[in-house]
Parts: sequence; C-alpha cells; structure tokens
Amino acid sequence: MKMNERQLALITEEVKRLAKLPGGFYEKKYEGIDVDKVTSQEDFEQLPFTTKADLRNAYPLGLQAVSEEEVVRIHSSSGTTGTPVIIPYTAKDVDDWAIQFARCYETAGITNKDRIQITPGYGLWTAGIGFQLGAEKLGAMTIPLGPGNTEKQLSMMQDLKSTVITATSSYALVLAEEIEKRGLKDKICLKKGVIGSERWGEKMRQKIKNTLGIQIYDIYGLTEIYGPGIGISCDYECGMHYWDDFVYIEIVDPETGKTVPDGEQGEIVITTLVKEGAPLIRYNTHDISRIIPGKCKCGCEYPRIDTIVGRTDDMFKVKGVNMFPKQIDDVLSEVDGVSSEYQLIIDHVNGRDECFLSVEVEDALDYRAVAEQINDKLKSRVGLKMKVNPVPTGSLPRSEKKTKRVFDRRFSQEEWKEV
Ligand code: ZN
Repeated sequence: MKMNERQLALITEEVKRLAKLPGGFYEKKYEGIDVDKVTSQEDFEQLPFTTKADLRNAYPLGLQAVSEEEVVRIHSSSGTTGTPVIIPYTAKDVDDWAIQFARCYETAGITNKDRIQITPGYGLWTAGIGFQLGAEKLGAMTIPLGPGNTEKQLSMMQDLKSTVITATSSYALVLAEEIEKRGLKDKICLKKGVIGSERWGEKMRQKIKNTLGIQIYDIYGLTEIYGPGIGISCDYECGMHYWDDFVYIEIVDPETGKTVPDGEQGEIVITTLVKEGAPLIRYNTHDISRIIPGKCKCGCEYPRIDTIVGRTDDMFKVKGVNMFPKQIDDVLSEVDGVSSEYQLIIDHVNGRDECFLSVEVEDALDYRAVAEQINDKLKSRVGLKMKVNPVPTGSLPRSEKKTKRVFDRRFSQEEWKEV
C-alpha cells in the first residue's frame, strides 16, 4: 500500500527518534543503520522486521519508549510458550485504543443505544478491557461479564436485553448451541455479534449467525499493537477495514521479506504511527492476508485487509504439501450435515506421515458416505488423502478461549506440537 504523506512524515520522524533514544529498543535494533537516510517508503522497506523474538528478548520492559511517569498500564501477550511480551501503554495509548475500538463498533452499526455484553477475558490479556473501553467511548451500556459462567451469561442476556454479544468465535458457538438447546432464541434481543481473536471457518460463522439470528463482525488486532480493535469487517463482509491513521500495514512475501503489490497474499507487517509507550516499526505478525484493492461498497474510506487465512507458523507440511487449518474449514463448509468442529492429528505411522481427521456428522447421515465426500474434496482441494473419522455432533471439545484443532505428533509422542 502506498504510504500517504502523513504516514511517511510520522514514520520517518519515528524511526529517527526511536533509533536515537538512549538505551532504547530500536537504538540496539538499528545499530549500524543510518536512520537519517530513511526518507522514503523504499528506504523504510529496507529496515529489518521487528519480530516476536525481539519482543520476548526485551522482557520485561525493554520496549518502553517513554519515562516511567507516563506509563499507566501494561498488557501482556498470551504466549502459551516461552517468555511473555510486555507492552506498556501511556494514557494517550489507552485513549487511542478506545477511539479505534469505538470506530469498530460504529462500523458495525452499533450505537450508544446498544447494550454490549462482553465475554472475552479481563486482565493481562487485551481482550475484555478493549471491548469495554470502546463500548464506553461509544456511550453504550457495557455489561462486563468476562469469560465463562454460561448460566449467568444467558440470564443477564435475557434480563438486561443485551443487543450485542462480543466473544471469541469458540465461545460464541458455545453460547449459540446452548441457546438453541434451551429454546431461548425468542427470549433474547441480540442483533449483532463482534467476534475476535481467532481464525474461524465459514461454517462456524453461519452456525452462530443462524442460531442467534444476528449479524456478525470480525474484529482484528493483537496485543503487541494496542489489542483487538485496529480493524473490523463491515455489513458487506468483504475483508476488514483498518485504521490507517493509527497503523501502517504492509503485506510481505514470507520467503523473501519483500513487500508485495496490493491484492497479493503475504504476511501482515504493522507499524504504529502514534503509539507512545511501545511503538513498533515493521512488526511481523505472521498473519496471512492481503490488501483488498479499491473502495468498499459500504462507503467507508478506510482501506481493507482480507479475512486472515492463517499464520505462517500455523502452516504444516505433510507429504510435501503445505497446509493451513483454514483449508480444512473451507472443505467442511461445503459438506452438508457436518459441523464446523474438527480435530486433525498428524502422526508418523510405519515410516509414513498420516492425517487422522475427526469430524462431527449428524446422526441420521450415512457416516461412510460423508467421510468419502470429505476425502474427495480434500484430495482435489488440498492434494492430500486423510483418514476421516466421523463422530457424533457435539462430541469434540469446545473451549471458551481458543479451540485447538491440529495436533502434530510426528516428532514426539509426549510433546504434541499444538498448532
Ligand atoms: Zn466496508
């Protein structure tokens, strides 16, 4: 994406300032680089990426770029492995995040007359509090339940007549299934769902949409860059608008690291434009997407990235074929009578890699025929044959946070590589 004048001015100033900040993160990172010569987009694209490993190495407060007095809060990324990443925020950062999040709600057509039920977690994680800040900035009534306690979620939802549900896709599915089971659909007032923080398939989206009778919006963001709220899908469901007055987004080729033209797929690399506490330059998220060229039908002027396909570190290679979990979502979404849930185990059996795919199939169906149908599609779409194992609907695990669906057991029986 071509940088506009404001972005170029902010970025070139930021690069110089951070590289010259004594003892700062970028002073070390850019050692040997003449930052005074970074004056164009082309120069900027030569700068090395900031990586998650860099951020971990800066633990605990190595990223802090302002004085102690200015920091009002920290958040931490939910890294399941290794050292966490700590991100300090100034008061302005917190407010800027709220402004962006409120803009997300507005893009979804949510107003100060709405009642927003918040189910993502609070604490070090950026989720719950981000959803809340934005809702308060918008002036809506916030119902901050946090995660779990489905019983209470459902009673509050009815009694307070929540009109918006915010959740991870996994938990939205849990709630949708529970509402369906109890026949509560007519007793709830939900109109919209703002769903974030994990990649999900079309089938799951349709299930939540239809069961709850709501319009769904995908929210984008990551703890390293404010948190959720830097972008959201609109009514037209054609990618996510992102706030290019707060972040500059590039898409790069994962192999070469070169910026690709708009429309082409690659890794999302983000530069913060006005962040104070922990500004990041060319942070490689490893999320795979593309810039969608052209204007959106909704009339919103903000640029768009496409739905996240996966992460380069989610990619797995079986028998020489590169695969993303999204491809399995896509195949399952085309088969009638199977749910959105699956579990894929990759194992090494008798010297060969094998994939075992458990899928939920409705009781009334011929399991064998469904399994064959899935296998045919996998072969033609992904180029892989799997051992498809149909199981009853509802029997695979659902989680309130991120549901793990792919387990690679090829390297060690004890330590499953969770993808
Ligand atoms: Zn739009």
